Amino acid sequence: MKEVKEPRKPLAFYYIIVLVVILLFNEMARPYFDEAKIQQVDYGTFMTLIDEQKIAKVDIQEHQIVFTQKDSNQRYKTGIMDDPGLAERLHNSGAEFSQDIKEDTNPIVGFFMAWILPLLIFFAIGQYFSKKFMERAGGNSMMFGMGGNQAKVYVPSSEGIHFKDVAGEDEAKENLSEIVDYLHNPQKYSAIGAAMPKGVLLVGPPGTGKTMLAKAVAGEADVPFFSIAGSEFVEMFVGMGASKVRDLFKQAKEKAPCIVFIDEIDAIGQKRSGAVMGNDEREQTLNQLLTEMDGFEGNNGVIILAATNRPDSLDPALLRPGRFDRRVPVELPDLEGREAILRVHAKKVKLAEGVNFHTIARMAAGASGAELANIINEGALRAVRDGRSLVTQSDLEESVEVVIAGYQKKNAILSDKEKHTVAYHEIGHALVAALQSNSAPVQKITIIPRTSGALGYTMQVEEKDKYILTKEELENKIATFTAGRAAEEVKFGQVSTGAANDIEQATKLARAMITRYGMSPDFDMVAMETVNNRYLGGDTTLACSAATQQQIDKQVVDLVHAQHEKAKKLLEEHIDKLDELAAFLYEKETITGEEFMHILKPEDEQKAEGEAVAADTQTETAKTEPASAPEDTNTIDTKA
Ligand code: ADP
Repeated sequence: MKEVKEPRKPLAFYYIIVLVVILLFNEMARPYFDEAKIQQVDYGTFMTLIDEQKIAKVDIQEHQIVFTQKDSNQRYKTGIMDDPGLAERLHNSGAEFSQDIKEDTNPIVGFFMAWILPLLIFFAIGQYFSKKFMERAGGNSMMFGMGGNQAKVYVPSSEGIHFKDVAGEDEAKENLSEIVDYLHNPQKYSAIGAAMPKGVLLVGPPGTGKTMLAKAVAGEADVPFFSIAGSEFVEMFVGMGASKVRDLFKQAKEKAPCIVFIDEIDAIGQKRSGAVMGNDEREQTLNQLLTEMDGFEGNNGVIILAATNRPDSLDPALLRPGRFDRRVPVELPDLEGREAILRVHAKKVKLAEGVNFHTIARMAAGASGAELANIINEGALRAVRDGRSLVTQSDLEESVEVVIAGYQKKNAILSDKEKHTVAYHEIGHALVAALQSNSAPVQKITIIPRTSGALGYTMQVEEKDKYILTKEELENKIATFTAGRAAEEVKFGQVSTGAANDIEQATKLARAMITRYGMSPDFDMVAMETVNNRYLGGDTTLACSAATQQQIDKQVVDLVHAQHEKAKKLLEEHIDKLDELAAFLYEKETITGEEFMHILKPEDEQKAEGEAVAADTQTETAKTEPASAPEDTNTIDTKA
């Protein structure tokens, strides 16, 4: 939104104030300048000059006598003496003299100084600050009247975003298309007595297309779209945010039917704390929002869409029916969704023949829409860097890795021994993953250092999205995490710092199994931890006694330990394959899943077992948190 300049008039006003101040200063300062020009003489000289009748004019002031000589404009001054005969002598000398009737300044000037000037200064300061605030509050008071808020009016146009631009998210689109239908045809709804929800809350992790969906609703319905971020309501002074809310609703009603989109509504919609020293401004803003939402009639054509990734933190009053009474989850895309999003964004770049989006989508498990858009763009940038005019499959694959692990470090020099260690470490992960039949196939193993600090990594790619994992699969994952370290132990008989990241991952998973998934031997189906902020990293809070905490810690250790031992055992049993694969990886630095499997199992063996693996991964019934994304799987972390 362009900032609209303040009108000129106030500027002229400031010029006038400055002028008045200068004039007044001039008036006030004049006596002091005059004073500087007066020459001081002693009283004797003054008396002599009287006697010689050379004095023209005398001004007897409170503390001094100022006089001029005849035939000269020079003024002199001298101190006051106790001289009773002075008046008579002056009279006799023919000088013109008087005692100053001291009215210290001109009465008009005095009045100005005492009353008008302070008022003007206050007024000017007030104007200045109010102007500053107006600028902060959006600066386009011309467009929106007083209180200028930052809602931007998107004029609907044919280039606007439509549902077809938002890939995946079919459930969300279906949910929202009812709103579009309503905006097209409100009579259909009012005829039967149905009221549209006033507010729809889009919840989901960052970058999943919530803003896009809101814009698409406006685009489809061909109505104006106001967009404002929750944080823009939060002001320094109590009441300003509330006035912005009022203003926003006023405009929205004028423009109805229209869509108002409040992004990151948790900035104002957080639960009111009830504490004495609450955040007054935020609470007032929220109260105003609640009142406004109550205030407008259903079916008046204003639909409020809001987005948040912290739905748990919202005030219950905001979520009650009649306000945001509909909640539309906008989740991370599944495999199909990812593929569709990649296709949508790939339309913007020139692609080479034969790009397989399915593979890219599989590699980018857990990526949000925004990340996928970024992957396509990174791929295009890479093509430009290499001086090509088309984006190839390998550009996109590399850019998935860039997004996961950072750029390749071209000049990181590993010593020979380090490179060996890394090769064994990575093959350890891949081998244990492959040997446990339920683990996902390995896509790629590399020991080229990355800017993220990883010295190498093993990329595991699931055939399908997994929504549910069995206890055994989780245990196998832990075993895979520990396998890097296990390989180092089995081969070199010593351990290194390279496993820090693996240790973190394994612990996290083991802990979740014990405290949240009910997979501990003792706790049955009791939740020992609760997850906060599901969409923002999902940190947890313990909900058990200190004694239980001890038990939890012990069980986590036992679980990881058992899997670590399992991994070691597997590797010891297959030490010849470990050596062979590590040597191959050391030589080639990057190997593919096929090359890996080729060495691991001669082809005839592979066929027989391949089918059994595929069948195993399909036991999906209900949805839980998907297991950690492959990028988390196996990186060696040097920063440890
Ligand atoms: P959010 O509001 O959920 O944080 P945005 O709607 O701002 O996310 O999305 C950010 C960017 O990610 C969009 O501009 C778009 O390029 C891309 N994006 C996200 N989700 C999708 C999707 N489902 N389809 C196409 N592009 C998407």
